[in-house]
Amino acid sequence: MKLYNSMTRTKEEFVPLEAGKVKMYSCGPTVYNYFHIGNARPFIIFDTLRRYFEYRGYEVKFVQNFTDIDDKVIKKANEEGVTYDVIADRYIKEYFTDAQGLGIRPASVHPRATETMDAIIDIVQSLIDKGYAYAVDNGDVYFRTKKFSEYGKLSHQPLDELQAGARISVGEIKEDPMDFAVWKGAKPGEPSWETPWGAGRPGWHIECSAMVNKYLGKTIDIHSGGKDLIFPHHENEIAQSECANGCEFAHYWLHNGFLTIDNEKMSKSAGNFFMVRDAAKVYGYETIRMFMLSAQYRSPLNYSEESLMMAKASLERLYTAAENLQFLLGKLEGETMTAEEQAKIDAFGAHRQKFIDAMDDDLNTADALAAVFELVRDINTAVKDPSCTKAFIQACFDIMMELCGVLGLVDHLGEKSIDSEVEDLIAQRAAAKKAKNFAEADRIRDYLLNEKGIVLKDTRQGTQWSYKE
Ligand code: AMP
Ligand code: ZN
Repeated sequence: MKLYNSMTRTKEEFVPLEAGKVKMYSCGPTVYNYFHIGNARPFIIFDTLRRYFEYRGYEVKFVQNFTDIDDKVIKKANEEGVTYDVIADRYIKEYFTDAQGLGIRPASVHPRATETMDAIIDIVQSLIDKGYAYAVDNGDVYFRTKKFSEYGKLSHQPLDELQAGARISVGEIKEDPMDFAVWKGAKPGEPSWETPWGAGRPGWHIECSAMVNKYLGKTIDIHSGGKDLIFPHHENEIAQSECANGCEFAHYWLHNGFLTIDNEKMSKSAGNFFMVRDAAKVYGYETIRMFMLSAQYRSPLNYSEESLMMAKASLERLYTAAENLQFLLGKLEGETMTAEEQAKIDAFGAHRQKFIDAMDDDLNTADALAAVFELVRDINTAVKDPSCTKAFIQACFDIMMELCGVLGLVDHLGEKSIDSEVEDLIAQRAAAKKAKNFAEADRIRDYLLNEKGIVLKDTRQGTQWSYKE
């Protein structure tokens, strides 16, 4: 399998550190809001990479963090008059709601910065001990960037160019404008943690270095995130980890391209974003996943109604084919395939091979999907024959599910969608009210609110539901 490594700027053959195993770390969300469609891109892509490694027989340990303490989390907490952990808990829960809808499996570990404080303090201490970091009077700790001669190697920027862009902001007491904060001294009214050099909280980059150490070890196979993270975030992670540990941090650096809207990067700061859950209400969660997979992950992908509608139509083609196979399975007989049918199944192997070749080529999900659609087209034609055996239909179904499963698509077949589950519960609540069983009606309403984040509104036309703001 070949992966494009941002470090070497070439597609390289993937060779794991340990045979049969993959250690992956992906930078996760800062939890002060729901996540937007742009954020969904790395979450879906690296979940797909993980699924593909597993499909190819690797044992994958996948870590994705939650940044649960930073300026934005604190600001949101102050606005609402609650503590930071109330905000973090809420949006971590909401992350899992959206992630589940998008078919993103939970990582092996989802560490939170505030629960990794020991490892964070350890790595900062070791950087101080080795002379790579220094504490200043206000309790901040800075990394001595120029001491790491390889600084800039991931972003391929020469040190003097970086130096020209470096600034000292108000309140920073740095030896050099290029130095960056690994720790921030405590400020009144902000949460802080005790350390040997004083109280405070972690800087932006240090949690990832500490979490990799704690959960995966000093060197990992793959580190990933959106390409906006290359500089300074990943560059700084490399500096911290390689100076603290004295060895290479990650073998392969994978970065997804931007999700754009009107050809501009979708971002919270630009205000041109859509929350995943709002788009999901219009198109369905799984359509969003299909849309993300419709392009190779490094190319830009533009969000538009037209492209989402196309993704929805593609997804429906898969469901129609799969449901037809399920219908035939319930109707047909014949536990053994004919020789002719076996030959057809063997021929479908060419589509599987095309799928694998595409995925092996730097996770080209666009070409992999094309292979799935060719398979589906051939299956649709083959099963029109009224003499098909049940065994043949089962084999068609299995190969289709095998490939769709790697992409995390058509996962919900046979399961209820969120919409029908909510509709069912609304109907049960109406029945309970009619029977004057108000306790049961309230229980259903509370369950939807607390477990699913769904608010009900009783109107003259009936009960409407929406996601909690
Ligand atoms: P954040 O919560 O802003 O740190 O972002 C979480 C992840 O989403 C990071 O890997 C970012 O690089 C990624 N990301 C943010 N905006 C976009 C976008 N418009 N397109 C693709 N990835 C993005
Ligand atoms: Zn990170």
